[in-house]
Amino acid sequence: MTEPTYAFAPPAVVSVPVQGRAERFAVHRIYCVGRNYEEHAKEMGFTGREPPFFFLKPADAIVVAEPGQTATIPYPTLTANLHHEIELVVAIGVGGRNIKAADAASHIYGYAVGLDMTRRDLQTDMKKQGRPWCIGKAYDQSAPIGPITLAAQAGDVNHAAIWVQVNGTDRQRSNVAKLIWNVAETIEHLSQAWELKPGDLIYTGTPEGVAAVVRGDTMTGGVDGLTPISVKVA
Ligand code: MN
Repeated sequence: MTEPTYAFAPPAVVSVPVQGRAERFAVHRIYCVGRNYEEHAKEMGFTGREPPFFFLKPADAIVVAEPGQTATIPYPTLTANLHHEIELVVAIGVGGRNIKAADAASHIYGYAVGLDMTRRDLQTDMKKQGRPWCIGKAYDQSAPIGPITLAAQAGDVNHAAIWVQVNGTDRQRSNVAKLIWNVAETIEHLSQAWELKPGDLIYTGTPEGVAAVVRGDTMTGGVDGLTPISVKVA
């Protein structure tokens, strides 16, 4: 077999560093859970009790916040209301279909802290029209993420504090235990809809307190037991 040739250079593999390892985590897909904390669902105008639902971001929306450094994202086009959503991110190491919640842990490679950056005005407009959210959620550089901590070294992330500060002031502060659909249940639901693959990332949802950032703001966020991230809006 001869190697295929391409019309242009294939895109580079998107990857995230792994704490304490030389190997990097190659990203396949980015799944996101919508309205997965009750108080956030309420602030978005919903009751807080509904089956989980999902959307995706392209893998190349990832912006890596290297440990101990501040990553930079540009203020995106077309919006006047850019929101932060701090989230626990699950990194899938073993794929599968129809994974039971009781087996979910064996599919998890590790965890990271992520920001589901959102052009809220565009998302709201699309929602009103019953149109897809892509332009609000899946835009370029919309998925900052910190390094992945291996699951065995991450502590009890299911009961960890989750928080983000903007310029040193609290914006969001909650606990992962308040997820409506926890990590294992999310994997169960998600793997019924899509075949999970090694390299998939799952942004599990954000607690209440989402709000706007402007150029010059620095977001610092974390989940206890994981490496915090720092991201500046340029
Ligand atoms: Mn989100």
